[in-house]
Amino acid sequence: MAKIRRLPQSVINKIAAGEVIERPASVVKELVENSLDAGATRIDVAVAKGGIEFIRVADNGCGIAFEDLELAVASHATSKIGDAEDLFHVRTLGFRGEALASIAEVSHLRLRSRTPDSDSGGEIYVEGGLVRSLAPCGCPVGTVVEVRQLFFNTPVRRKFLRSTTTELGHISETVAKLALAHFRVHFTLTHNDRPVLQLPAAAGLLERIAALYGQDLADSLIPVSSEDGPVRLYGYVAHPAFSRPNAKMQFLFLNGRAIRDRNLQHALNEAYRGLLTVGRQPVAFLVLEMPPEMVDVNVHPTKQEVRFLDSGRLYSQLLGTLRREFLSSDLSTRIPAPTPEQDGDSWRSPHDPEKVRATRQQIVEWAKGELQQRLAGNLATGSETAKAVSDFAHASLYSSETARPALRSGETIAPGEQRAEHKRDLATAVVELRSAGSGASDFGQTTESLGRKVEQGAHPELGLGSEAPAKVLQIHNRYLITESDEGLVVIDQHALHERILYEQLRQSLQDGPLTTQQLLIPEPVDLSPVEAALALENKELLAELGLSIEPFGGTTVLVHSYPAMLRHMSAGDLLRSVLAALAEGRSQPDRATLLDSILHSLACKAAIKAGERLAPEQVRALLEQSRQVLHSHHCPHGRPTMLVFSREELDRYFRRT
Ligand code: ADP
Ligand code: MG
Repeated sequence: MAKIRRLPQSVINKIAAGEVIERPASVVKELVENSLDAGATRIDVAVAKGGIEFIRVADNGCGIAFEDLELAVASHATSKIGDAEDLFHVRTLGFRGEALASIAEVSHLRLRSRTPDSDSGGEIYVEGGLVRSLAPCGCPVGTVVEVRQLFFNTPVRRKFLRSTTTELGHISETVAKLALAHFRVHFTLTHNDRPVLQLPAAAGLLERIAALYGQDLADSLIPVSSEDGPVRLYGYVAHPAFSRPNAKMQFLFLNGRAIRDRNLQHALNEAYRGLLTVGRQPVAFLVLEMPPEMVDVNVHPTKQEVRFLDSGRLYSQLLGTLRREFLSSDLSTRIPAPTPEQDGDSWRSPHDPEKVRATRQQIVEWAKGELQQRLAGNLATGSETAKAVSDFAHASLYSSETARPALRSGETIAPGEQRAEHKRDLATAVVELRSAGSGASDFGQTTESLGRKVEQGAHPELGLGSEAPAKVLQIHNRYLITESDEGLVVIDQHALHERILYEQLRQSLQDGPLTTQQLLIPEPVDLSPVEAALALENKELLAELGLSIEPFGGTTVLVHSYPAMLRHMSAGDLLRSVLAALAEGRSQPDRATLLDSILHSLACKAAIKAGERLAPEQVRALLEQSRQVLHSHHCPHGRPTMLVFSREELDRYFRRT
């Protein structure tokens, strides 16, 4: 039996470091948390080579007194708690007193600090846990910590580090989370001296969300809030249309700390049940505030998991709050809520034509107002009007998506159900207007005919007659079956969508470069050396397609923007498929043909796949869009998109004639 020995302090520190410091992003998290605990109002984070080479966090917080410098980097030394009882009232982010010691153990760490009541500051330099120097120095009030050579003495850990891009990704996610939890603090993040995040102090959470993830997302968010005794829950959840393929955009903050909690995540998913298709995840920014006594934060070294005193009650609070919000908002704020006299029974009798007409009138008025607003201040030229109408059509289509939740939640005929129906009318009308060449060159004409369409309650789908919406059936998750005046129509969903996308792309490319969607956080995409070279050689052509890129070191490029039309594809997928088409099409005789072949392959990539189950709303939207596209009978590859069996043909098959 081996003899039991006490471990040397440096080994203890290394073990502790192993728990807390997993990668450069962990260092950033601990240092920024210290800055926040120090009351900083501005925190600047600078990293080089994904933080592996260099990390600096500078703050304007309360600073550390010269005589405390050595203690600050010693293990289990903290100014934040004094005794065990304090553990249950933690109001700061840190309290374990090990972060600085752990970081210093596995790196070269330099800390410079000055308190407001001291004329000069001090600097301490630690290498692998050994204090090499400690001396007064001149510096501004606040603290600057610089970490170099991370994991220089723990080669195993160093080996586990991923590419610069991946590590930078973790770092910017870390900073983003802290910046959301502390939106009043001014944050910056730079990588290799290039700005990555610039977040001036925000007045509220929503403003910070917009700064990080874009105004579009922020605009789509639904505010939620509730109180249960001393527990306050507030924040924002996204409209189901803004769902994501993973849970990365789900944030939960507890008393200024980003946490993960399975139980609450489950409540969130439960609230969205039936509103999202399988495999999609909601977007949510939720803030919980409660007295520190109600939660134990000392269960996880990095404090990402906590234990609640009454997690069952929190579960109900979250689920209840979201459900209430979803039901009352009908998941759409775009249509005005019915006025009191229209509310009540009248909304429940959809067959009363007088009421329906009145409601339509109301929607027409609303639509006019909406359009007017969109055109306000503009001299409504033909193209501006066209654009406003088309944006508006898009928005209306979007909100027509909201029909689904309303239909599901209503046991009887919910007001939402009827509104949704009208929205559909409106959307189809607008789409038709738009496809009619947006030829209505003046505003009055546009709104007038829009109004008429809505009043007529036109249901133009594939020229399927004007009385009732078409019956559509999706079979084998691949074909859509519907009827037209001519007969039975079988549609290949992928081929049709591909055709639509191709036509849309081609049409907009005729008017110049594609409309782009700017990425607030440029996305690094790792490419093969061949792809990278190809990308940089063809920067201008890519820009024409709406893809603006920039070299980012090695074979990585940064994508700054991409075509708005294809925003549901990831920047990486998009860039790679364009490059593949580019490589393949390089032998094309001229630029136009090359571009065309790229559009073909993009459309194919971005289109709904065969085998994808479509929600009724998606089917409807697809059919509506197909009306706008001229040559929708054939996909861009020349395969047919739909087959029509005329009634005569059917009659003949069944020997009726
Ligand atoms: P903890 O945060 O758990 O107390 P740390 O090892 O992270 O432990 O920090 C040790 C101590 O150093 C803190 O308690 C605090 O007093 C001081 N300190 C660290 N960073 C800063 C900073 N940026 N500003 C002011 N004081 C700091
Ligand atoms: Mg700390």
